[in-house]
Amino acid sequence: MSNFPGRPTLNNPDLLQSRNFVNGQWITAASGKVIEVHNPATGELVATVPSLSQDETRRAIDAAGRAWPAWRALTAQARSRIVGRIGELMRENREDLAAIMTAEQGKPLVEAQAEIDYAAGFFTWFAGEAERAYGQVLQPSVAGRRILVTKEPIGVFAAITPWNFPAAMITRKAAPGWAAGCTGVIRPASQTPLSALAIAVLAKQAGMPDGVCNVVTGSAEVVGRELTDNPIVRKLSFTGSTEVGRVLLERCAKTIKKTSMELGGNAPFIVFDDADLDAAVKGVMASKFRNTGQTCVCANRILVQDSVYEAFSEKLKTAVEALVVGNGTHTGVTQGPLINQASVNKVEQHIGDTLAKGGRIVTGGKRHSLGGNFFQPTILADVPRHAQIFSEETFGPVAPLFRFNTEQEAIDMANDTPFGLASYFYSRDLGRVFRVAEALEYGIIGINEGLISAPEVPFGGMKESGLGREGGPNGIDEYLEVKYMAIGGLTSSHGKLH
Ligand code: NAP
Repeated sequence: MSNFPGRPTLNNPDLLQSRNFVNGQWITAASGKVIEVHNPATGELVATVPSLSQDETRRAIDAAGRAWPAWRALTAQARSRIVGRIGELMRENREDLAAIMTAEQGKPLVEAQAEIDYAAGFFTWFAGEAERAYGQVLQPSVAGRRILVTKEPIGVFAAITPWNFPAAMITRKAAPGWAAGCTGVIRPASQTPLSALAIAVLAKQAGMPDGVCNVVTGSAEVVGRELTDNPIVRKLSFTGSTEVGRVLLERCAKTIKKTSMELGGNAPFIVFDDADLDAAVKGVMASKFRNTGQTCVCANRILVQDSVYEAFSEKLKTAVEALVVGNGTHTGVTQGPLINQASVNKVEQHIGDTLAKGGRIVTGGKRHSLGGNFFQPTILADVPRHAQIFSEETFGPVAPLFRFNTEQEAIDMANDTPFGLASYFYSRDLGRVFRVAEALEYGIIGINEGLISAPEVPFGGMKESGLGREGGPNGIDEYLEVKYMAIGGLTSSHGKLH
């Protein structure tokens, strides 16, 4: 029997790497230390990856620093070709990349394939944006002067990413970084490093020069400490919890790094009495149950107007009971496992707290009979506002329904959180659409829409959900510095101005 019973069968086995990629070479840790990657659906060992030391992390940063001058000196068009090619290679290897993702993360294969399309889209989008990082020529306020504004790559970036989107969270950072002319050191989550390493294989195949793309794995504390403290790193892009984001921000303060922080959410999903209820149910299913409820933009609080509460709850129950829980590789499965037991415990705890405070179960509510990390898709009704689930991200397949009466009450409930990432509402009243959209304190508003992620949109949060935007026209600016040149002395010797 193989040492890696969870290893997926691939058309191109080279895509599943158990080493790190530094300066164009595949390396292991000198210590021989490794991190095990397990399939959350079966518990089987899929692979091991190195656990790098601080010194080894520093060497990866040094390699990125050395590669930077030549990479930034390339024309934008030349960089664009390589960046765009990685996206094409991802699409050509879609089945294998999805199989790797399902093995390490657990999401159903169809969702993994959709994530590969989404992740590849960032390379395509930013290949285009590379050529549009224009500067400006401004009107001077002083005669005889010209003012030029240029945009330049910031330098070496570091990326630290979570396990819920093992490919897209990497490409949403790497694609704009490389397109802008930066070089990078990427550290994926310990539970899901294999998708990131597969992208490194494709980056090399696309013709990426050595040192531009480096992917390292290891202890969050050891590798993360070097990435935040090393002065060569000029930019840290982090996606993960608000708690860890706060720690990393503090550490980056020492060297005044530019940071992007894509942090936690607590998304409200408001169903008004004039909503198309079937469309709203579809929206909740997409927003709440995708990735088994483990997305930062998951509907975390479903606020339903009194007069449609029962009707909506019935329709949602029918849809939730049609979900098929199981191993993501099996045909027809729509809900994979949670990532680990800690997540199962948190889901259970949120349900227990809600019941203790007067809420009730509409469907689900228990660990699934499949055992392990599987949990029943759940709806909770009559959830009181002081329940824990109102103020904390559950990160699991639990849809809590809250009641409201008036539009203002819904807005107040929605904004009653320190988070401000995604929000959703369903209404067919044009006036209400504008009133509510403008009142919600969120970076992302889905209006009659439950799926809001795409490469061309500026994704990011307000308040404690983060800093900066990823994707869209703003995404590349996160990796660029603005330089202004004042050119004086343009007055001729005869005093004439040109
Ligand atoms: P997490 O615990 O914050 O971990 C995220 C990443 O940070 C992982 O790679 C983790 O490494 C690393 N890390 C943890 N402690 C660190 C430290 N002290 N120094 C350096 N790195 C450290 O979050 P998670 O549980 O993986 O992900 C779920 C969270 O991410 C949720 O809150 C979700 O809302 C948020 N999220 C936000 C977005 C967005 O775009 N806003 C997108 C997706 C997810 P290890 O894997 O080794 O622990």
